[in-house]
Amino acid sequence: MQRGADIIVVGGGVMGCAAAYHLAKDGRRVVLLEQFAVGHTQGSSHGPSRIIRLAYDGVDYVRLARAAYTLWRELAAEAGESLLFKTGGFDFGAPNAFMLDGIRATYEAAGVPFEAVDRDEIVRRVPPFTLPEDTVGYYQPDYSLLAADRCVATLAAQARRWGATIEEGDAAQDVRATRDGVEVRTHHATYRAGGLVLCAGSWMRPLLRQLGADLPLRVRKEQLAFFEPRDPSAFMPDRFPLGKLTPENWLSWSREAKEESRDEPESPREIAGASPPVSSGHRRRVHFDQDFMVPGRGFRDLLQLETLGRSKSTVHDRLHVSSHEPASGQAPSTSPRVPSD
Ligand SMILES: Cc1cc2nc3c(=O)[nH]c(=O)nc-3n(C[C@H](O)[C@H](O)[C@H](O)COP(=O)(O)OP(=O)(O)OC[C@H]3O[C@@H](n4cnc5c(N)ncnc54)[C@H](O)[C@@H]3O)c2cc1C
Repeated sequence: MQRGADIIVVGGGVMGCAAAYHLAKDGRRVVLLEQFAVGHTQGSSHGPSRIIRLAYDGVDYVRLARAAYTLWRELAAEAGESLLFKTGGFDFGAPNAFMLDGIRATYEAAGVPFEAVDRDEIVRRVPPFTLPEDTVGYYQPDYSLLAADRCVATLAAQARRWGATIEEGDAAQDVRATRDGVEVRTHHATYRAGGLVLCAGSWMRPLLRQLGADLPLRVRKEQLAFFEPRDPSAFMPDRFPLGKLTPENWLSWSREAKEESRDEPESPREIAGASPPVSSGHRRRVHFDQDFMVPGRGFRDLLQLETLGRSKSTVHDRLHVSSHEPASGQAPSTSPRVPSD
């Protein structure tokens, strides 16, 4: 069986569903292929929550994050769903933690409101936090939670409303560039389109290889643990802001502070005043090979790295599309279409 579309999206995690939704809303004929079912638990996007924040080491990320806040709110309004919950949040760590310096510099450069707080102030506001004496940090009121599973389901539902076709249980096997676009073969059908959006998450590497781009991606399993608090009322979203203590914060803790902090609480149980884990799970996450990353560089620098630049142009050359032009040759519609129901 042969099927046509303007754009084929491979992967029905949050990225693929978002791509399908926005492309369909923009007036394209979209087919999304998902190897399992949308909402499955084998990838990166499932689970009850994700953090959305402006706390980044780089103003380009803040620009992207601001746009994302707007888009999530628009989606929630369009679908009549509650997706984003504002909690406020802290980034904290040792006084010399380089991530904190970067976050502050970004806040200042991007005009993000924040408050500098010390350990006593953090604990005064959020008593369940148990932190080393010299902890410092920043409070940022826009920190929020996204209802992750609901976000994916809503994106998929709205993509369908705008006319996208979502084929579940249909894995892209072969992906190749043709004279006038792309061809994607699955066990069930062959799809042809003017353009392709690959959102295959941790399954990305073999698909990219077929298009001549061998990115040094490495897949890692991330282990999660959830703890039942002794006093759940102290951890409600309106009383308990998000707190982010990155591994970098711990690693950059000075040797002396590390020695001194031996008696400090080590496990999440002691830090959060919680019981032992009540459940755990895992998600997959894809990383650039560490050798490929340049420590301290921001998003734009990463995009400009020669290897990635070469691979990007290889993909575009092979697909005969530029990242700025509609692949089908049609200009995107400026007035959004009305959903079909
Ligand atoms: C533990 C953890 C915590 C995180 N916390 C946050 C957070 O707080 N805030 C935040 O913004 N981000 C967070 N992230 C990152 C975020 O969850 C991921 O960036 C996002 O889910 C990636 O989505 P994706 O669609 O690219 O990948 P996935 O969700 O893995 O989707 C890829 C999809 O492609 C499908 N697929 C693959 N190959 C094929 C094929 N050949 N044919 C058809 N379908 C195929 C897969 O089945 C899958 O459904 C976290 C990630 C992890 C792992």
